[in-house]
Amino acid sequence: MNILILGSGGREHALAWAVMQNPKCDKLIVAPGNAGIAQIADCASLDIDNGGAVAAFAEENAIDFVIIGPEAPLAAGVADRLRDAGLLVFGPSEAAAKLEASKSFTKAICDAANAPTAGYGHFTDAEAAKAHVRHHGAPTVVKADGLAAGKGVIIAMTEAEAIAAIDDMFGGAFGGAGAEVVIEEFMEGEEASLFVLVDGEDVLAIGSAQDHKRVGEGDTGPNTGGMGAYSPAPVLSAEIEARAMEEIVKPTMRVMAERGMPYQGVLYAGLMIKDGQPRLVEYNVRFGDPECQVLMMRLGAQALDLMQAAAVGRLAETQVNWADDHAITVVMAAAGYPGAYEKRSEIKGLEGLPEDSSNMVFHAGTKAEDGKVLAIGGRVLNVTARGDTLQEARDRAYAMVDGINWPQGFFRRDIGWRALK
Ligand code: ATP
Repeated sequence: MNILILGSGGREHALAWAVMQNPKCDKLIVAPGNAGIAQIADCASLDIDNGGAVAAFAEENAIDFVIIGPEAPLAAGVADRLRDAGLLVFGPSEAAAKLEASKSFTKAICDAANAPTAGYGHFTDAEAAKAHVRHHGAPTVVKADGLAAGKGVIIAMTEAEAIAAIDDMFGGAFGGAGAEVVIEEFMEGEEASLFVLVDGEDVLAIGSAQDHKRVGEGDTGPNTGGMGAYSPAPVLSAEIEARAMEEIVKPTMRVMAERGMPYQGVLYAGLMIKDGQPRLVEYNVRFGDPECQVLMMRLGAQALDLMQAAAVGRLAETQVNWADDHAITVVMAAAGYPGAYEKRSEIKGLEGLPEDSSNMVFHAGTKAEDGKVLAIGGRVLNVTARGDTLQEARDRAYAMVDGINWPQGFFRRDIGWRALK
């Protein structure tokens, strides 16, 4: 089978690594890819948000299966264009991708499905939004409706902060994404992510994870795209996972199908758990990055079979072969991230590290030049390991981190602390 993966981050390196282990994969192209991916697959430059261009490229290269990594091509309808061209695709349609691209859309689907989530109001003008805040008080959560790269959510501890956030959003701070605003009840609890494959009708849970969003140790400092993650998430016990599937995932997927938008691909359910009750914080319509890295480390070669089963509608007869293992990923980022950072510093020591089914350095923002590996992004490497326990996985990951010589980089020493305490 000839496979095309769209994307260029650590998530896509992990997907490529898992897919390459499956004997069904004859040829793998990743577009656009990165320096780490280029070591295991062909990379091609391609405008991945342009469905026509991706379809033409897939035809020219005799591609049988396209796996879409990031949300932007999904929200742009690339999966639809590819399906129209007769290709097998892993990833939801533009209509179904609204589960990530519009927060008010997801809230309305949750209402129809009676799925537990935060109470909310949806507003198209600032005065009505402010009146809602004055009525309900703080703390509260103010969200730009559209895609804002994780920055369009303000947790307001006071009414004044909420009012300021409303003014910012309607004032255009998030462009079109903030033309509509959702104001939510503040939920307390512990967050975890559940990853579920969906084939339009049936669902299959493929693992849980928790990530560390803050830049600093002890979960302090500004938010980032994620400084590390581990799987499974201990807070998501089998019982709570079953509740999340029965009360949230299955009913919302049923409503999507009933409304003519059957969902196909991976559904990332961000959950808030308190007193054994999961509530939905958000849906994403793709694998998380860096959560994908720990999931792929645990699933290995079967990941391709699972994604293919979702794409062809055969999840009802598919199972996950679980190992009783743990995986962790430590993100190495450029000094200064998430603020301004330098590019083009050299990373040394990567060639001496183990690369096997329990140890892997996935590349996110790297570039190969004259035999050197250069850092060209904020989050640069995802040092990932697997073990029988989380402690064992963590020790392996940090042993690899210590073998990397990159003075211009930094990382957190405490990934997984909550699960280990
Ligand atoms: P991302 O995709 O980067 O996680 P996003 O822009 O899609 O972010 P959300 O996931 O909706 O936004 O919110 C981001 C974070 O804000 C959540 O992970 C959670 O920590 C917090 N949050 C969001 N909504 C609530 C809520 N109602 N109560 C408490 N915390 C919340």
